[in-house]
Amino acid sequence: MFKVALIRQNNYLDCYNTLKRGFDALGGLEKFIKYGERILIKPNLLMSVKSNCPAVTHPEIIKALLLIIKDFGAIPLIGDSPGRGTVEKVLNNMNLLDFLKTENIRIVDCTTPITKKINFNNREIKHTFFKGVNNADKIWTIAKLKTHGQMFYTGAIKNLFGLVPGALKPELHFKYPDNWKFADMIVDIFQLAQPAFAIIDAIIAMEGNGPGSGEPKNLNCLIMSENALAADMCAIKMINYKTEDIPIIDLAIKRKILGPQNYNEITILGEPLENFIDLNFKKVRQESKITTFFGAPIIGKILKPLILSKPIINFDKCIKCNHCNEICHPKAIKLNNQTNKMKIDYLKCIRCYCCQEICPVGAIKIYKPPLLKSIDELIKKL
Ligand code: SF4
Ligand code: SF4
Repeated sequence: MFKVALIRQNNYLDCYNTLKRGFDALGGLEKFIKYGERILIKPNLLMSVKSNCPAVTHPEIIKALLLIIKDFGAIPLIGDSPGRGTVEKVLNNMNLLDFLKTENIRIVDCTTPITKKINFNNREIKHTFFKGVNNADKIWTIAKLKTHGQMFYTGAIKNLFGLVPGALKPELHFKYPDNWKFADMIVDIFQLAQPAFAIIDAIIAMEGNGPGSGEPKNLNCLIMSENALAADMCAIKMINYKTEDIPIIDLAIKRKILGPQNYNEITILGEPLENFIDLNFKKVRQESKITTFFGAPIIGKILKPLILSKPIINFDKCIKCNHCNEICHPKAIKLNNQTNKMKIDYLKCIRCYCCQEICPVGAIKIYKPPLLKSIDELIKKL
């Protein structure tokens, strides 16, 4: 059985004790840390935002966890490769840099690339991570529960994509334009990283236009588990998704060796999962059943321009910062000099939604064409 602790907490005032309650419920901190061990905390530091922004793991969770590890006698480290800017800049914006200096906690090298590989089912899984992972005995994924434009949900497993150095991430989006192939690549990263512990900050989650520009939503729960897949399965149930709705979760389950195969293999500790389910949680968009119904390759080649969801720009909000252009690998979005507005070339666009993720003012949303909605309705009735 895979144990998941669900700890009720409705604010970030006493994260040290909230986390302690979670570790106690799971059998005590000593089950997960050894004296002197180097634990790399990988929070979700998407981009430079204010410290109370729901797009990132709350700084009070990060601080409390680092102190818990330190107080135990282990060595906490921290690292992430944000979508934009350096990890130091993001940590500074979140008022964490001084804390790290005072507590003498090291930020690992998050830019130099190294290669990690393993063999699985006669296949070599190989990815580039930042060098700092080699400084750690264990990696802990410390995620935020959020909606996600491309993957619908982001939590403990998707958070590990931040182990890939910044500039390489758009390249991977370009290499895996199909959602399911991209999700499979994320599961490869999960399998390579082998996180030893997972925490999902669902005290204040993010709903709507995630992962960068959604709205805060109280779910009042800290999710903790030794198994990242089990933690994610609980998180998606809270926001009313099924495992097969979320490609990363569905594919991780299908590998059979990464965690539970179903909810019967999860033991909930703390408070029952049912107490946290929010049926009104606003999703980033409903997943289209059309890809799974017809098959992604056919969709990609024939129907994509007509019926796939696409990013659209709200010109009233756009401040022309050009961040979307910089992150767009196929260069599908750029300033139109005649209109002086950002313009998307939908024939080039691979629907990776990196632009929607990175836009600092939430000017990019995902639009689902009416034809796609109608086809989805039809498929539901079949
Ligand atoms: S990132 Fe957002 S605000 Fe900046 S140019 Fe693109 S659409 Fe406009
Ligand atoms: S326009 Fe946006 S969604 Fe399209 S390829 Fe560029 S970054 Fe990805």
